[in-house]
Amino acid sequence: MSMNKVYVKDYKKPAFEIRIVDLEFNLDDTVTVVKNTMVIERHGNEDESLVLNGEELQLQSVVLDGRELHKSEYELDNFSLTLHKLSENFILEITNVINPEANTALDGLYKSSGIFCTQNEPEGFRRITYFIDRPDIMSVYSTKIIADKEKYPVLLSNGNLVEKGSLQEGKHYALWKDPFPKPSYLYALVAGDLGKVNDSFITMNKKEIELNIYCDKGNEEKCSFAMESLKNSMKWDEDRFGREYDLEIYNIVAVDSFNMGAMENKGLNVFNSHYVLASADTATDSNFMGIESVIGHEYFHNWTGNRITCRDWFQLTLKEGLTVFRDQ
Ligand SMILES: [Zn+2]
Repeated sequence: MSMNKVYVKDYKKPAFEIRIVDLEFNLDDTVTVVKNTMVIERHGNEDESLVLNGEELQLQSVVLDGRELHKSEYELDNFSLTLHKLSENFILEITNVINPEANTALDGLYKSSGIFCTQNEPEGFRRITYFIDRPDIMSVYSTKIIADKEKYPVLLSNGNLVEKGSLQEGKHYALWKDPFPKPSYLYALVAGDLGKVNDSFITMNKKEIELNIYCDKGNEEKCSFAMESLKNSMKWDEDRFGREYDLEIYNIVAVDSFNMGAMENKGLNVFNSHYVLASADTATDSNFMGIESVIGHEYFHNWTGNRITCRDWFQLTLKEGLTVFRDQ
Protein backbone atom coordinates (compact mmCIF):
# COMPACT_ATOMS: atom_id res chain seq x y z
CA MET A 1 0.00 0.00 0.00
CA SER A 2 1.37 3.42 -0.91
CA MET A 3 1.14 5.68 2.10
CA ASN A 4 2.25 8.99 0.64
CA LYS A 5 0.40 11.84 2.26
CA VAL A 6 -1.84 13.78 -0.11
CA TYR A 7 -2.83 17.39 0.58
CA VAL A 8 -5.73 19.17 -1.07
CA LYS A 9 -3.56 22.27 -1.54
CA ASP A 10 -1.30 20.24 -3.83
CA TYR A 11 -4.10 19.40 -6.27
CA LYS A 12 -3.06 19.84 -9.89
CA LYS A 13 -5.08 19.18 -13.00
CA PRO A 14 -3.79 16.02 -14.67
CA ALA A 15 -1.36 16.58 -17.54
CA PHE A 16 -2.95 13.70 -19.47
CA GLU A 17 -6.51 12.64 -20.13
CA ILE A 18 -7.55 9.09 -20.92
CA ARG A 19 -10.48 9.46 -23.31
CA ILE A 20 -11.25 5.83 -24.14
CA VAL A 21 -10.47 2.60 -22.29
CA ASP A 22 -11.07 -0.74 -24.01
CA LEU A 23 -10.51 -3.63 -21.63
CA GLU A 24 -10.32 -7.33 -22.38
CA PHE A 25 -10.26 -9.89 -19.57
CA ASN A 26 -9.36 -13.51 -20.02
CA LEU A 27 -10.62 -14.72 -16.66
CA ASP A 28 -8.70 -17.36 -14.76
CA ASP A 29 -8.45 -18.09 -11.02
CA THR A 30 -4.74 -17.38 -10.79
CA VAL A 31 -3.65 -16.09 -14.22
CA THR A 32 -6.14 -13.52 -15.48
CA VAL A 33 -4.81 -11.63 -18.49
CA VAL A 34 -5.92 -8.01 -18.80
CA LYS A 35 -5.45 -6.15 -22.07
CA ASN A 36 -5.98 -2.42 -21.69
CA THR A 37 -6.09 -0.18 -24.77
CA MET A 38 -6.21 3.53 -23.95
CA VAL A 39 -6.68 6.59 -26.15
CA ILE A 40 -4.72 9.31 -24.36
CA GLU A 41 -4.31 13.08 -24.84
CA ARG A 42 -1.47 15.10 -23.41
CA HIS A 43 -2.44 18.54 -22.12
CA GLY A 44 0.79 19.56 -20.42
CA ASN A 45 4.05 20.19 -22.27
CA GLU A 46 6.37 17.58 -23.74
CA ASP A 47 8.54 17.32 -20.65
CA GLU A 48 5.58 16.10 -18.63
CA SER A 49 5.82 12.32 -18.04
CA LEU A 50 2.87 9.99 -17.93
CA VAL A 51 2.76 8.21 -14.56
CA LEU A 52 0.31 5.30 -14.40
CA ASN A 53 -0.57 3.74 -11.05
CA GLY A 54 -0.24 -0.04 -10.79
CA GLU A 55 0.01 -2.42 -7.84
CA GLU A 56 0.34 -6.21 -7.67
CA LEU A 57 0.43 -6.37 -11.48
CA GLN A 58 2.66 -8.49 -13.68
CA LEU A 59 3.47 -6.41 -16.74
CA GLN A 60 3.69 -8.33 -19.99
CA SER A 61 3.90 -5.72 -22.70
CA VAL A 62 3.61 -2.00 -23.46
CA VAL A 63 2.67 -1.07 -27.02
CA LEU A 64 2.76 2.61 -28.00
CA ASP A 65 1.01 3.50 -31.27
CA GLY A 66 1.46 -0.05 -32.54
CA ARG A 67 5.12 -0.46 -31.54
CA GLU A 68 6.09 -2.68 -28.61
CA LEU A 69 8.39 -0.80 -26.25
CA HIS A 70 11.64 -2.19 -24.95
CA LYS A 71 12.11 -2.27 -21.15
CA SER A 72 14.59 0.58 -21.43
CA GLU A 73 11.87 2.85 -22.86
CA TYR A 74 9.80 3.05 -19.66
CA GLU A 75 10.28 2.99 -15.90
CA LEU A 76 8.60 0.36 -13.78
CA ASP A 77 8.41 -0.05 -10.01
CA ASN A 78 5.98 -1.64 -7.52
CA PHE A 79 3.57 1.30 -7.70
CA SER A 80 3.88 2.86 -11.14
CA LEU A 81 4.72 2.68 -14.81
CA THR A 82 6.22 5.88 -16.24
CA LEU A 83 6.60 6.92 -19.88
CA HIS A 84 8.46 9.99 -21.16
CA LYS A 85 8.47 12.20 -24.27
CA LEU A 86 4.98 11.42 -25.46
CA SER A 87 3.12 13.04 -28.35
CA GLU A 88 -0.14 14.98 -28.00
CA ASN A 89 -2.35 12.05 -28.99
CA PHE A 90 -1.42 8.41 -28.72
CA ILE A 91 -2.76 4.91 -28.15
CA LEU A 92 -1.23 2.90 -25.35
CA GLU A 93 -1.87 -0.83 -25.14
CA ILE A 94 -0.83 -2.52 -21.92
CA THR A 95 -1.09 -6.24 -21.20
CA ASN A 96 -0.68 -7.47 -17.64
CA VAL A 97 -1.49 -10.51 -15.54
CA ILE A 98 -3.28 -10.54 -12.18
CA ASN A 99 -4.00 -13.31 -9.67
CA PRO A 100 -7.61 -12.88 -8.45
CA GLU A 101 -7.46 -15.86 -6.09
CA ALA A 102 -4.43 -14.50 -4.23
CA ASN A 103 -6.02 -11.05 -3.95
CA THR A 104 -7.00 -11.07 -0.29
CA ALA A 105 -6.94 -7.26 -0.11
CA LEU A 106 -10.33 -7.54 -1.90
CA ASP A 107 -9.52 -4.35 -3.79
CA GLY A 108 -9.46 -4.55 -7.56
CA LEU A 109 -10.52 -7.90 -9.08
CA TYR A 110 -10.76 -10.83 -6.71
CA LYS A 111 -12.19 -14.31 -6.60
CA SER A 112 -14.36 -15.33 -3.67
CA SER A 113 -16.73 -18.31 -3.30
CA GLY A 114 -16.53 -19.11 -7.01
CA ILE A 115 -17.37 -15.56 -8.12
CA PHE A 116 -15.12 -12.96 -9.75
CA CYS A 117 -15.94 -9.55 -8.32
CA THR A 118 -14.42 -6.06 -8.22
CA GLN A 119 -14.21 -3.26 -5.69
CA ASN A 120 -12.47 -0.14 -6.99
CA GLU A 121 -13.49 2.75 -4.73
CA PRO A 122 -11.29 4.51 -3.92
CA GLU A 123 -8.08 3.13 -5.47
CA GLY A 124 -8.68 -0.48 -6.47
CA PHE A 125 -8.50 -0.05 -10.25
CA ARG A 126 -4.68 0.16 -10.12
CA ARG A 127 -4.76 -3.50 -9.01
CA ILE A 128 -6.48 -4.42 -12.30
CA THR A 129 -4.36 -2.52 -14.80
CA TYR A 130 -2.01 0.46 -15.15
CA PHE A 131 -4.03 3.66 -15.06
CA ILE A 132 -4.15 7.25 -13.79
CA ASP A 133 -6.28 6.05 -10.90
CA ARG A 134 -7.92 9.28 -9.70
CA PRO A 135 -11.53 10.48 -10.01
CA ASP A 136 -10.84 13.46 -12.31
CA ILE A 137 -9.81 11.10 -15.12
CA MET A 138 -13.13 10.52 -16.91
CA SER A 139 -13.10 7.85 -19.63
CA VAL A 140 -15.53 5.95 -21.83
CA TYR A 141 -15.08 2.24 -21.10
CA SER A 142 -15.80 -0.94 -22.97
CA THR A 143 -15.21 -4.39 -21.49
CA LYS A 144 -14.84 -7.75 -23.17
CA ILE A 145 -15.00 -10.61 -20.68
CA ILE A 146 -13.84 -14.07 -21.76
CA ALA A 147 -14.46 -16.97 -19.37
CA ASP A 148 -15.40 -20.61 -19.01
CA LYS A 149 -19.05 -20.94 -20.07
CA GLU A 150 -20.07 -23.55 -17.53
CA LYS A 151 -18.37 -22.08 -14.46
CA TYR A 152 -19.19 -18.46 -15.29
CA PRO A 153 -22.44 -18.27 -17.29
CA VAL A 154 -23.07 -14.70 -16.06
CA LEU A 155 -20.60 -12.06 -17.31
CA LEU A 156 -21.34 -8.49 -16.21
CA SER A 157 -19.77 -5.07 -16.46
CA ASN A 158 -20.85 -1.41 -16.65
CA GLY A 159 -23.11 0.00 -19.34
CA ASN A 160 -25.12 -1.82 -21.98
CA LEU A 161 -24.57 -5.36 -23.25
CA VAL A 162 -23.70 -4.99 -26.94
CA GLU A 163 -22.56 -8.48 -27.89
CA LYS A 164 -22.17 -11.99 -26.54
CA GLY A 165 -21.30 -15.37 -27.97
CA SER A 166 -19.52 -18.70 -27.76
CA LEU A 167 -15.82 -19.32 -28.22
CA GLN A 168 -13.66 -22.41 -28.57
CA GLU A 169 -12.60 -24.64 -25.66
CA GLY A 170 -15.86 -24.23 -23.73
CA LYS A 171 -15.47 -20.50 -23.35
CA HIS A 172 -17.82 -17.63 -24.05
CA TYR A 173 -17.64 -13.85 -24.02
CA ALA A 174 -19.70 -10.73 -23.34
CA LEU A 175 -18.98 -7.22 -24.58
CA TRP A 176 -20.22 -4.31 -22.47
CA LYS A 177 -20.08 -0.65 -23.44
CA ASP A 178 -20.73 2.27 -21.11
CA PRO A 179 -21.36 5.40 -23.21
CA PHE A 180 -20.93 7.80 -20.28
CA PRO A 181 -17.47 8.96 -19.18
CA LYS A 182 -16.71 7.89 -15.62
CA PRO A 183 -13.84 7.72 -13.14
CA SER A 184 -12.06 4.40 -12.60
CA TYR A 185 -13.50 3.92 -9.10
CA LEU A 186 -16.93 3.25 -10.71
CA TYR A 187 -15.59 0.47 -12.89
CA ALA A 188 -16.98 -3.02 -12.17
CA LEU A 189 -16.85 -6.59 -13.39
CA VAL A 190 -18.71 -9.63 -12.04
CA ALA A 191 -18.58 -13.20 -13.35
CA GLY A 192 -20.14 -16.30 -11.85
CA ASP A 193 -22.90 -18.86 -11.78
CA LEU A 194 -25.66 -16.74 -10.27
CA GLY A 195 -29.41 -16.83 -9.79
CA LYS A 196 -31.41 -14.04 -11.40
CA VAL A 197 -34.64 -12.12 -10.91
CA ASN A 198 -35.78 -10.04 -13.86
CA ASP A 199 -38.22 -7.14 -14.17
CA SER A 200 -38.54 -3.88 -16.10
CA PHE A 201 -39.25 -0.20 -15.58
CA ILE A 202 -40.85 2.28 -17.98
CA THR A 203 -39.26 5.70 -17.62
CA MET A 204 -40.92 9.13 -17.83
CA ASN A 205 -40.02 9.23 -21.55
CA LYS A 206 -41.44 5.74 -22.13
CA LYS A 207 -38.03 4.04 -22.35
CA GLU A 208 -38.12 0.45 -21.14
CA ILE A 209 -35.26 -0.41 -18.78
CA GLU A 210 -34.31 -4.03 -18.13
CA LEU A 211 -33.83 -4.64 -14.40
CA ASN A 212 -31.94 -7.63 -13.03
CA ILE A 213 -30.98 -8.70 -9.55
CA TYR A 214 -28.33 -11.44 -9.52
CA CYS A 215 -27.93 -13.43 -6.31
CA ASP A 216 -26.49 -16.64 -4.94
CA LYS A 217 -28.62 -19.50 -6.27
CA GLY A 218 -31.53 -20.28 -3.95
CA ASN A 219 -31.94 -16.67 -2.82
CA GLU A 220 -34.11 -15.56 -5.76
CA GLU A 221 -37.32 -15.37 -3.72
CA LYS A 222 -35.71 -13.03 -1.24
CA CYS A 223 -35.04 -10.38 -3.92
CA SER A 224 -38.59 -9.13 -4.47
CA PHE A 225 -38.55 -6.32 -1.92
CA ALA A 226 -35.23 -5.04 -3.30
CA MET A 227 -36.71 -5.05 -6.82
CA GLU A 228 -39.77 -3.09 -5.62
CA SER A 229 -37.44 -0.65 -3.86
CA LEU A 230 -35.42 -0.16 -7.05
CA LYS A 231 -38.51 0.66 -9.09
CA ASN A 232 -39.73 3.07 -6.38
CA SER A 233 -36.32 4.77 -6.38
CA MET A 234 -36.35 5.20 -10.16
CA LYS A 235 -39.84 6.70 -10.02
CA TRP A 236 -38.98 9.00 -7.10
CA ASP A 237 -35.92 10.48 -8.83
CA GLU A 238 -38.09 11.22 -11.87
CA ASP A 239 -40.99 12.75 -9.91
CA ARG A 240 -38.85 14.74 -7.54
CA PHE A 241 -35.90 15.82 -9.69
CA GLY A 242 -36.75 14.94 -13.30
CA ARG A 243 -33.80 12.52 -13.38
CA GLU A 244 -34.37 9.65 -15.76
CA TYR A 245 -32.21 6.52 -15.81
CA ASP A 246 -29.69 6.78 -18.65
CA LEU A 247 -28.75 3.22 -19.69
CA GLU A 248 -30.83 0.39 -21.19
CA ILE A 249 -30.16 -2.00 -18.35
CA TYR A 250 -29.71 -1.81 -14.58
CA ASN A 251 -27.99 -4.71 -12.89
CA ILE A 252 -27.73 -5.40 -9.19
CA VAL A 253 -25.53 -8.15 -7.79
CA ALA A 254 -26.27 -9.20 -4.21
CA VAL A 255 -23.95 -11.98 -3.06
CA ASP A 256 -22.50 -13.25 0.23
CA SER A 257 -18.96 -12.99 -1.08
CA PHE A 258 -18.99 -9.21 -1.58
CA ASN A 259 -17.25 -7.92 1.51
CA MET A 260 -18.02 -4.22 1.23
CA GLY A 261 -21.56 -3.15 2.15
CA ALA A 262 -22.71 -1.69 -1.16
CA MET A 263 -21.14 -0.05 -4.19
CA GLU A 264 -22.71 2.24 -6.80
CA ASN A 265 -20.68 1.15 -9.89
CA LYS A 266 -22.28 2.63 -13.01
CA GLY A 267 -25.15 0.36 -14.13
CA LEU A 268 -23.85 -2.51 -11.97
CA ASN A 269 -24.45 -2.01 -8.26
CA VAL A 270 -22.88 -4.65 -6.03
CA PHE A 271 -24.13 -5.44 -2.52
CA ASN A 272 -23.50 -7.89 0.24
CA SER A 273 -26.67 -10.01 0.29
CA HIS A 274 -27.15 -9.21 3.97
CA TYR A 275 -28.21 -5.66 2.99
CA VAL A 276 -30.58 -6.56 0.16
CA LEU A 277 -32.28 -9.91 0.67
CA ALA A 278 -35.27 -10.47 2.93
CA SER A 279 -38.26 -12.73 3.28
CA ALA A 280 -41.47 -11.69 5.01
CA ASP A 281 -41.24 -14.75 7.31
CA THR A 282 -38.07 -13.66 9.06
CA ALA A 283 -37.34 -10.01 8.30
CA THR A 284 -38.41 -7.13 10.56
CA ASP A 285 -39.82 -3.75 9.51
CA SER A 286 -36.44 -2.17 10.09
CA ASN A 287 -34.81 -4.77 7.79
CA PHE A 288 -37.23 -3.70 5.04
CA MET A 289 -36.59 -0.02 5.68
CA GLY A 290 -32.87 -0.67 5.52
CA ILE A 291 -33.19 -2.41 2.14
CA GLU A 292 -35.26 0.41 0.65
CA SER A 293 -32.75 2.93 1.91
CA VAL A 294 -29.61 1.19 0.63
CA ILE A 295 -31.11 0.29 -2.77
CA GLY A 296 -32.28 3.90 -3.13
CA HIS A 297 -28.91 5.26 -2.01
CA GLU A 298 -26.91 3.33 -4.61
CA TYR A 299 -29.47 4.09 -7.32
CA PHE A 300 -29.48 7.83 -6.55
CA HIS A 301 -25.69 7.85 -6.92
CA ASN A 302 -26.28 7.39 -10.65
CA TRP A 303 -26.78 11.16 -10.81
CA THR A 304 -25.21 12.38 -7.56
CA GLY A 305 -21.82 10.72 -7.72
CA ASN A 306 -21.60 8.93 -11.06
CA ARG A 307 -22.76 11.35 -13.77
CA ILE A 308 -21.75 14.27 -11.57
CA THR A 309 -18.68 13.06 -9.75
CA CYS A 310 -15.94 14.32 -7.45
CA ARG A 311 -12.66 15.92 -8.53
CA ASP A 312 -10.59 14.26 -5.82
CA TRP A 313 -11.17 12.23 -2.65
CA PHE A 314 -11.32 15.36 -0.51
CA GLN A 315 -14.73 15.86 -2.15
CA LEU A 316 -16.08 12.47 -1.03
CA THR A 317 -18.53 14.12 1.35
CA LEU A 318 -20.17 16.02 -1.52
CA LYS A 319 -21.40 12.89 -3.27
CA GLU A 320 -22.02 10.93 -0.06
CA GLY A 321 -23.68 13.76 1.88
CA LEU A 322 -26.02 14.66 -0.95
CA THR A 323 -26.89 11.04 -1.69
CA VAL A 324 -27.54 10.23 1.97
CA PHE A 325 -29.82 13.27 2.07
CA ARG A 326 -31.64 11.92 -0.99
CA ASP A 327 -32.04 8.39 0.38
CA GLN A 328 -33.43 9.76 3.66
ZN1 LIG B 1 -22.85 6.32 -1.12
